[in-house]
Amino acid sequence: MSTPWHVLGAGSLGTLWATRLARAGLPVRLIVRDAERLQSYQAAGGLTLVEHGVASTYAVPGETPDSPEPIRRLLVACKAYDAESAVARLAPRLTADAELILLQNGLGSQDAVANRVPLARCISASSTEGAFRDGAWRVVFAGHGFTWLGDAGHPVAPIWLDDLEAAKIPHEWSTDILTRLWRKLALNCAINPLTVLHNCRNGGLQEHHCEVATLCAELAELLERCGQPAAAENLQQEVERVIHATAANYSSMYQDVANQRRTEISYLLGHACKVAVRHQLNLPHLKQLQQRLITHLRSLGLPSD
Ligand code: NAP
Repeated sequence: MSTPWHVLGAGSLGTLWATRLARAGLPVRLIVRDAERLQSYQAAGGLTLVEHGVASTYAVPGETPDSPEPIRRLLVACKAYDAESAVARLAPRLTADAELILLQNGLGSQDAVANRVPLARCISASSTEGAFRDGAWRVVFAGHGFTWLGDAGHPVAPIWLDDLEAAKIPHEWSTDILTRLWRKLALNCAINPLTVLHNCRNGGLQEHHCEVATLCAELAELLERCGQPAAAENLQQEVERVIHATAANYSSMYQDVANQRRTEISYLLGHACKVAVRHQLNLPHLKQLQQRLITHLRSLGLPSD
């Protein structure tokens, strides 16, 4: 019997992974917040994945964090701001050789989790797959993409990548995962906050070319300073390419704000600004962007962290 995948968080990405692993016949268990959520999940009869317009339900067994079984392989699929506390609750259940796969966007939450469970191997992921919830325990696979996985402290690939192969989860083991995470964070910082502040789709930023260029210059300086020169290479060109290629899309931060959901600002722009301070780097436009965004979120009654 292969090692069970415990999936923490039954949201968009958690469901996308859990259903594909289950579909491949692999053992999966879903960890939901509490007994009330478990009851709701059990009443629904499983997780539903909608792919190419076709809905399929998978009866993945559910449990709460207090369940007694040991956990050897944990896919952490919470938002960045929930990851540390959610993992802390599971710490007593982790085996001595436990491995965690962290799906969180941005940076900061991975280190926070790793510090909570210093004996576990923590593998970070950066994904371009897209999914959203369109009902309780039901997720739409909206954008096929790719997931890079890597462990900054240990370059050897884990054996369970075979499970991802079997589950047809497009992936690659990356020996420069930190560079990938920083590059994605920089793209996010240059695009997402401005789409919120200018209330526009990604393509709307074509009218704010100078503002975008100034931010890219500061972000590139930051990446160089924190030892990520590869992530700084041609940053502005790539930001412009993404703005053009995704012109009709609303950024994830825009969607969070539009739906009155908490954003992951602290792990994106907030993290960039924090690291800049740590390196005594003065990045006035980035700092001002953070202030404008915080003020805007507060004016809407949304958390600003
Ligand atoms: P999501 O849909 O909001 O799902 C997060 C899930 O975590 C929710 O179901 C939430 O439960 C659960 N959760 C939070 N705390 C928990 C706890 N203590 N115990 C058990 N469950 C807990 O988020 P998402 O969109 O999947 O995003 C997850 C991460 O992936 C984010 O960092 C995001 O930026 C990143 N990402 C997402 C996508 C995407 O397309 N969605 C793409 C790339 C990267 P409740 O339902 O009870 O609130």
